[in-house]
Amino acid sequence: MSTSFEQLQIAQTYLDKLKELGIGEPTPIQAEAIPVLKQGSDAIIQSQTGTGKTLAYLLPALEQIDPTQKQLQVLVVVPTRELGMQIMQEIEKLTADGPIRSQSLIGGAAVVRQVEKLRLHPHIVVGTPGRLLELMKIKKLTLHHVKVGVIDEVDQVFELGSMQDVESVLKGMLKSSQKVFVSATIPQSTEQAAGRWLKEPVIIKINASQR
Ligand code: ADP
Ligand code: MG
Repeated sequence: MSTSFEQLQIAQTYLDKLKELGIGEPTPIQAEAIPVLKQGSDAIIQSQTGTGKTLAYLLPALEQIDPTQKQLQVLVVVPTRELGMQIMQEIEKLTADGPIRSQSLIGGAAVVRQVEKLRLHPHIVVGTPGRLLELMKIKKLTLHHVKVGVIDEVDQVFELGSMQDVESVLKGMLKSSQKVFVSATIPQSTEQAAGRWLKEPVIIKINASQR
């Protein structure tokens, strides 16, 4: 028996958007992860590339956003510009014509432009660790109001970026914020980091044979 997005209690506005996008049924990782994340647990989401991990964390995270507040409420940390752009596109599709504002804060793009755009108070940011930290240091970005912090391709984030940068970004969020690590593979080093940064994480893992 497969679950539906309705059964996963996804808000109507996103049900409509999913339909528009031609996305009918949740993938297995979405069906497992969404209820856990909606409960507010920290989590590790692990399944093969292409199994729909982005929506698995985006849908519950977007529902946490109160658009009447000006604060940054959801942060998605990514290892690369390319992945960041891809996730931004998904966010833009889901939030088109709505009140939720999103912004990317990715290395390579001009800092001044990003600082300027931050004055519009995005509710959700997708960023690379180095650039996020740079903006935090010059007090243009604060993570104190982040309710959900996701690290996508977390193994790569810890490999490519400086460990210190990533840890400083994680430290910028309140202890009480929900934290989610996402990847196709969770090497031992990432597992150790998860032990330090996640509180009693629920491990949601789908094997290739379950696809
Ligand atoms: P992953 O992060 O696990 O590699 P993505 O989140 O990038 O996977 O999703 C891979 C592709 O599957 C994307 O094009 C996405 O739009 C599509 N997709 C995601 N969820 C569903 C779904 N429930 N039904 C159909 N297509 C989906
Ligand atoms: Mg992905």
